[in-house]
Amino acid sequence: MAFGWIDEQAELRRRAGLVRTLRPRPADSPLLDLAGNDYLGLAHHPEVVEGAARAARTWGAGSTGSRLVTGTTGLHAELERELAVFCGFEAALVFSSGYTANLAAVTALAPHGTLLVCDAGNHASLIDGCRLARAERQIVGHRDPEAARKALRAHEGPALVVSDTVFSVDGDAAPLGELASVCREFGAGLLVDDAHGLGVFGDGGRGAGHAAGLAGADDVVVTATLSKSLGSQGGVVLGPARVIDHLVNAARTFIFDTGLAPASVGAALAALRLLRREPERAARARRVAAELHARLTAAGHEAVRPDAAVVSVRAPSPEEAVRWAADCRAAQVAVGCFRPPSVPDGISRLRLTARADLSGEQIERAVRVIGETRP
Ligand code: PMP
Repeated sequence: MAFGWIDEQAELRRRAGLVRTLRPRPADSPLLDLAGNDYLGLAHHPEVVEGAARAARTWGAGSTGSRLVTGTTGLHAELERELAVFCGFEAALVFSSGYTANLAAVTALAPHGTLLVCDAGNHASLIDGCRLARAERQIVGHRDPEAARKALRAHEGPALVVSDTVFSVDGDAAPLGELASVCREFGAGLLVDDAHGLGVFGDGGRGAGHAAGLAGADDVVVTATLSKSLGSQGGVVLGPARVIDHLVNAARTFIFDTGLAPASVGAALAALRLLRREPERAARARRVAAELHARLTAAGHEAVRPDAAVVSVRAPSPEEAVRWAADCRAAQVAVGCFRPPSVPDGISRLRLTARADLSGEQIERAVRVIGETRP
């Protein structure tokens, strides 16, 4: 029977406690959201919502075509200019998602003959970019510049080191300065995904590249998403103008994808302007993370010390992680639940987003509910 094998896979998944289901999120509810990635609390900010609405009214609900045909509006150009200036890079290019931005950057910057050196903890979109690229790839230890050095030393020809800046599972940060030094030793490029760093890391949320002193470097390319700190949707690649021009001409997920919807561009632009006006939001997210972590560890939970705005709490098993997250939700606290295969080490976790707009009372409530529902 066609697709009969799907039932066998579903049964294996069920037995391992790894079934995933979709649950619509109610529009208005008392739910305390620590599961989404709205780090700065901007997704519902009136200025951001109005930015989206105004853009849709002016430019339409959809961008109508590929960026190279009809999908580039004046608003796209404005957002790209402002993102580049904010993060300190020469140029920027926005995409329909962070996922397609990563596919574009990796595939276009690693032609045949290139060595891709990848951190073992990289996000799925970077991994998929590496799979699509016609380059040789080597996976090295997590946050291990020495392993990257070894890989580069053994290779002749162009190379690209690829890493998240903040890893999405545990929220731990990559040693960007050391990675950049290793790359420079061998004339390799450095490509980093700042999905969880933009808006949280660096001066006023300018991102991990900026924080590591790598902004504007001619051998560094940064990707990010517009869907987390900026509360919108879409992705971006930041880097030297010649790299961005190359992506416009060579990146398949840029050329063959419909341009980012005007509403998303308008929302991201409004969020970026808000962040420039209220730079303290970034530091506030990091402070909330530190406070959540301190309170959770004081309550006896095994939580990873946060480098950015992600707090990860260990769960005993995938089944217990699912039950724990469901019990939290029943108590009106939404937390993320990470299980294999999303976690490379097989350890299930609850994942909490340290939103800048959480009050002391909300932090206390989250910690209390997580404690009360603990398996
Ligand atoms: N990179 C990382 C590290 C991410 O966590 C995500 C989102 N989960 C992405 C890329 C993809 O971004 P987007 O959701 O905008 O496609």
